[in-house]
Amino acid sequence: MSRDINNKFWDEELETLPREELQKRQLEDLKEIVKFAYDNAPYYKRSFDEAGVKPEDIKTLKDIEKFPFINKKTQRDTQGVGSFLGELAAVPEDDVVFISTSSGSTGVPTMSPFTKKDFDEFQDTESRWFWQIGMRPNDRYVHALNFSLYVGGPDVIGAQNLGALCIWGGTLPSERLLFILKTYKPTIIWTSPSYAWQLGEKAVKAGYDPKKDFNIKKIIVAGELGGSIDATRKAIEDLWGAEVYDFYGLSDIFGACAAQCEYHDGLHIAENHILVETIDIHTGEVLEPGQTGELVFTTLRKHARPLIRFKTGDIGRIDVTPCRCGRTHGRISILGRKDDMFIVSAVNVFPSDIEAVIREQSGITGEYLIRIFEKDFTSKYAVEIEKNADNTKTDEEVAEQVSAALKARTGVKPAKVIVHPDGGLNTRSEHKSRRVIDERKIDYSI
Ligand SMILES: [Zn+2]
Repeated sequence: MSRDINNKFWDEELETLPREELQKRQLEDLKEIVKFAYDNAPYYKRSFDEAGVKPEDIKTLKDIEKFPFINKKTQRDTQGVGSFLGELAAVPEDDVVFISTSSGSTGVPTMSPFTKKDFDEFQDTESRWFWQIGMRPNDRYVHALNFSLYVGGPDVIGAQNLGALCIWGGTLPSERLLFILKTYKPTIIWTSPSYAWQLGEKAVKAGYDPKKDFNIKKIIVAGELGGSIDATRKAIEDLWGAEVYDFYGLSDIFGACAAQCEYHDGLHIAENHILVETIDIHTGEVLEPGQTGELVFTTLRKHARPLIRFKTGDIGRIDVTPCRCGRTHGRISILGRKDDMFIVSAVNVFPSDIEAVIREQSGITGEYLIRIFEKDFTSKYAVEIEKNADNTKTDEEVAEQVSAALKARTGVKPAKVIVHPDGGLNTRSEHKSRRVIDERKIDYSI
């Protein structure tokens, strides 16, 4: 590969396209994919006809607003219908080279098929993110994500195509992963933010100094919100002495669709692949860039299963103003899952806000559990935390400190803060941590 390692861009022309030019390309691809979906995927033919819209109605990017939404349920209801790939698929099975499936954490797993071209473009996009965070061919990279069915698994190919030395770590037990970090001295690792934190803690307990005994310079995190919560990112950075970059992916699209640059101010999204809309979570009305709502994605170049106006379930916003790094593709910020947001005293509360508070406070471990429950016909929340072993404050004092900080940040006080000793919460899992328990509908008195 003759790429100049000093060039900060993987694909300079694409990444720095003037927005007008970028939107021109988006429009060409949008016209093509909407027609392709209509002509080849039975679901789109039916739903466009029912809505009275035709591919030829797309004259500008805004015309996408005339088309109907789809969501996770559409995927579930249509998969396996008519053919193995289902009614959203637009190519025959012979053209498909890879399928991933979602984790099924919110219901039946959904399947995402790729043609060879879809897959190659997916990996080129992953190379672009790796390059963006500074990965170069002289890096050693550990991909510590699940390889089984998960769309994040093959992202390692993007690092390999870039020329880095790749170690397919997968979900190795921590002891073996620490052995790899100590012996092979990799420079970059990708894992979930909670696991990055736990692995660092385990390393310390095993007698290592993560800053000195390893050679990790950069940590990529994805799958949970932590990497975009400044306090969480800084806590992981301090523990490892490494820079943390947040990536965002969707099992329905790519392992990573968006990634932070060196300025960590939102995540650049691959707008050459994804047309982003933001809609009001209650009315479905399309909002302006910069406004917060549910993110809706249209895939512009994936032919195996095009997604036209897919409601992601993620609440966030897109910033299309120029980034200091020179990239022109917009930056998304994710506040949380729509399903995780809860309303207390008419205030929208996101678990990510609570996490930010917990990770900023001194004298507590940073582990937490949020319980949402109903009392007196209104939603309330309680937070469970762990006090550091060397914290001399009483549990009541710690609870009061955290409660006041939560009120300041979210606008509503928790009904209760329960203080456990260090290690008292069973939240240190090796996979995605479930930290929000919704107990509404369950009789719960506190
Ligand atoms: Zn940037």
